[in-house]
Amino acid sequence: MADIRIHTPIEQVPAIRKRIIPSLKRLGIKTIRDLLFHFPSRYEDFSNLKTVQTLEAGETVTIQGYVKRVTNRRTPRKRMFLTEAVINDGTGNIKALWFNQPFLVRNIKSGNIVSLSGKVAWGQGGLYLQNPAYERIHNSEFKTTSSQGTHTGGLVAMYPETEGISSRWLRYLIKSFLSFRKELADPLPSETRKRHMLSDIYTALQNIHFPQNTQEAEGARRRFSFEQMLFIQLRALKERMRLKKFSAPAISLNLPLLKKFVNSLPYELTDAQRRSVWEIVQDISKPRPMNRLLEGDVGSGKTVVAAAASLLAIQEGYEVAFMAPTEILAKQHYSTLEKILHPFGVRVGLLTGSEKNKRSNTLLCVGTHALIQKNAHFKNLGLVIVDEQHRFGVEQRAQLAKNSSGSLPHFLSMSATPIPRTLALTVYGDLDLSILDELPKNRREIITKIIGPGKREETYQFIREGVKRGGQAFVICPRIEVGGQGLKIGKISQQKLLLADTKTVKEEYKKLSEKIFPDLNVGILHGKMPAKGGSASGGKSKEQTMKEFKEGKIDILVSTSVVEVGVDIPNATIMVIEGAEKFGLAQLHQFRGRVGRGEHQSYCFLFPTENGLVTKRLRAVVEAKNGFELAEKDLEIRGPGDLFGIRQWGVPDVVLADINNARLVREVRVAALELIKKDPSLTGYPLLLEELKRSHTLHLE
Ligand code: ADP
Ligand code: MG
Repeated sequence: MADIRIHTPIEQVPAIRKRIIPSLKRLGIKTIRDLLFHFPSRYEDFSNLKTVQTLEAGETVTIQGYVKRVTNRRTPRKRMFLTEAVINDGTGNIKALWFNQPFLVRNIKSGNIVSLSGKVAWGQGGLYLQNPAYERIHNSEFKTTSSQGTHTGGLVAMYPETEGISSRWLRYLIKSFLSFRKELADPLPSETRKRHMLSDIYTALQNIHFPQNTQEAEGARRRFSFEQMLFIQLRALKERMRLKKFSAPAISLNLPLLKKFVNSLPYELTDAQRRSVWEIVQDISKPRPMNRLLEGDVGSGKTVVAAAASLLAIQEGYEVAFMAPTEILAKQHYSTLEKILHPFGVRVGLLTGSEKNKRSNTLLCVGTHALIQKNAHFKNLGLVIVDEQHRFGVEQRAQLAKNSSGSLPHFLSMSATPIPRTLALTVYGDLDLSILDELPKNRREIITKIIGPGKREETYQFIREGVKRGGQAFVICPRIEVGGQGLKIGKISQQKLLLADTKTVKEEYKKLSEKIFPDLNVGILHGKMPAKGGSASGGKSKEQTMKEFKEGKIDILVSTSVVEVGVDIPNATIMVIEGAEKFGLAQLHQFRGRVGRGEHQSYCFLFPTENGLVTKRLRAVVEAKNGFELAEKDLEIRGPGDLFGIRQWGVPDVVLADINNARLVREVRVAALELIKKDPSLTGYPLLLEELKRSHTLHLE
């Protein structure tokens, strides 16, 4: 262990078994430091230290005692391993039962003194401990007042796990290497720590993994959360300062043109759209780069707002780059923009991974990431619009505008994640915000219903009638959960997941096309289909399928949830979501937004799995009228930790619990401003600077 340091890669640490290295890597743990910064997602409260005599069924307790005997056997019917131990603590005997952990007999032997934590259950032979956490303890620890151990007693950290590594393993590893934290210097300046009452990194690391009590755990979490929020704020402030050094084209606010554009539209803009257009065109009329987020629910009409700004830029001879997250969406934007800007003589280009040639001589270019990667050769880029991507640094902007030194294009990002202002502030730092908080008036509310198993036939009949009247339907199939505890991360598992998803969607397709709707045209869309063209075996591509759906050749489209269904199908009036309880609220809301784009009454049917629960969450989807309302309900039901789609934004987990804590957010902002005011370049805080460079979580890579 002599030359092992905190930054030593885990492969070079003999004490870490080779077998678990891939699992650690899947968790993003590459060094000992990463291991120490792998934080628990919650704690199990095992602080209720009891004697056998006083146990009651249902409570979670810790008991300590001598092992009288341990045995392994197989259960007769289910062919599982059952390990049974009898513990005596001087007040009586209690049984502990474990399923499928036969190796346990190697760790716990009769005569050992152990500490066990878990739930007290009532069985045939009386009270017993159900699958308790366990550890051996020394005689000296036995019957001390504190119940604190590594795996039992006190508060025990539970980690987000992955295949092949349990919380128990992680606790063990972290405990073994915790002393290496001495090598870390604290990136938080001591004055900031003092003023805002934050513990130092040394204490905080100890307490986040092995807290003696809730206050310690909470204090540690607050420190790291504060720290991460501070990094976000500082990065944003620095970025803003950096942006200020650049100039940008001042695009004159051509009011007559703007009026002409608005009047040319086949609909009236909503007040929110007018307000947002106004905010944007004012911003881009200044010779400083705009940095603005346009936020609005699905269907709130963000595209036309972006188009208005684009038109002004193009009119002055500037190029506009419009980036979409997928090829299908890029094409949709392409045809929308083409339609609404054509009367103004604007030609639109398209540049995606597979479409490269439509770029010549156009001022407005729509595309995917290929816009950056394929070097679109902009000469005079005035405005960059990015749909559904959350961050776009100075770097990327500069990359797009290679030729214009000292000048940057204006930037508008668009997002359908409804997020209240305080949250936006936390997540985005100092980005300017325009909000579309109202849907176009012609929009009818989408009728959302939870469909129980008894109502399936009736609903299919309703869908059939809807289709006969000229409507179309989406059927979304659930993602498959692989393994026990939630979704696994990592490339291999994602591949497995894709295969499993494809399988369900194929089965659903077969059922619907052959049994339920043999008289209708049912189509299928999944991630294993080629993006473009048709395959030799006659299989269709995603593009072809979407085209047929759009043209009305397909009545019902069965699709996986991972496939982008963001395409505008005005005739689609019915959305069916199978296994609805398995989706997050944000996702359900996004799916629902795929219908109701036309003038007809639309429906969203939520089908829970057969034994799935009709959860509060599903009811919230039925009740909430828009994304903002739903976001608030989500907060209420699940607590801030799981907030609506926030995880996608790249917010560090430790921040999640505080993300809607307006007081803390304000306090962090004050701290950030204090630091920047005192030392704008932060060169007096080298550790802080290093940390800012290290964590680029919010930047698009
Ligand atoms: P999103 O905000 O989800 O990107 P879009 O820009 O795709 O929304 O707009 C959704 C649909 O609403 C489009 O078909 C668009 O033409 C239409 N639309 C946009 N604004 C209005 C409006 N003010 N009145 C009526 N329809 C509108
Ligand atoms: Mg959109």
